[in-house]
Amino acid sequence: MSERSFRKRKLLNKRDKANIIFAVLVAISAVIIYVLSVSDDRAQRYKAEVQNGNTAVHFIDVGQGDSTLVISQDKVMLIDTGDRDKMDKVVNYLKKQDVERIDYFVITHPHADHIGEADQIISQFDIGTVIMPRLPDELVPTSATYDALLDAMEDKHLKFRAGRDESFELGGCKAEIFAPHGEYSNINNYSLLVKITHGDNSFLITGDCEKEEEKEFLERGCDISADVLKAAHHGSDTSSTQQWLDRVDPYYAVISCGLDNKYGHPDDDTVKRLENTAEKVWITAEDGGVVFVSDGKGLKAEREND
Ligand SMILES: [Zn+2]
Repeated sequence: MSERSFRKRKLLNKRDKANIIFAVLVAISAVIIYVLSVSDDRAQRYKAEVQNGNTAVHFIDVGQGDSTLVISQDKVMLIDTGDRDKMDKVVNYLKKQDVERIDYFVITHPHADHIGEADQIISQFDIGTVIMPRLPDELVPTSATYDALLDAMEDKHLKFRAGRDESFELGGCKAEIFAPHGEYSNINNYSLLVKITHGDNSFLITGDCEKEEEKEFLERGCDISADVLKAAHHGSDTSSTQQWLDRVDPYYAVISCGLDNKYGHPDDDTVKRLENTAEKVWITAEDGGVVFVSDGKGLKAEREND
């Protein structure tokens, strides 16, 4: 090969490389634009469903944590916020749904994977009632996340309402809170349960409730039956006993957890119990967020990764 053609080939190689890099960048940008446009399109559709009088229940994919958004007519309930997230996932999700006011902000229990974005949400949105479990003094957290939540509440002159057994209207839905009465050594067992009923459809959101608390609600005879169950404690083996699942008798179960999380959630046997009970079991780590739309009779379900 002459010196000249060698140089030419070298030049071509350089140009080829640049072309390949350019093509890869274009492809990545196209995928990002596609994903964003699909999620925008979905956000628009869910907003339209609510405007038509339907209720939307969003199990937001927050990785290893929980966050559930309920929008019915002009009323909004947010249950937990996921962990602190550089992407401000829940704040941005709420904005995409045009949420300005959160009428009821329920904190199932004050662990970081449930209150991580709470301070930002409180400072950025108009907040109605904040409901949190009453905890024994020795279990009140001393974490920076909890302190940030307290500071944000103080800045807005907000006060917690201690969770109690109660029922109230939320747009076209009935919202019920079930609070534990027992004494426990684990903060998870102080989780508030929220049941949303819209006509024939019902949803049960269980925080990180473990089997001791499940047993209490079973013994108290609370009506915890639901079509959609947010499985407790990220599908851990601490929760979702067979007796509990028999009583809830869900058609859908949603497990909210992060991919390859350090806790090993969800537990294989727990997933099997859920699969034996529910027709469909969805895991946010694989399926992405899950949104249900209820017209009071029918129930539509859509997974982010469908
Ligand atoms: Zn948790």
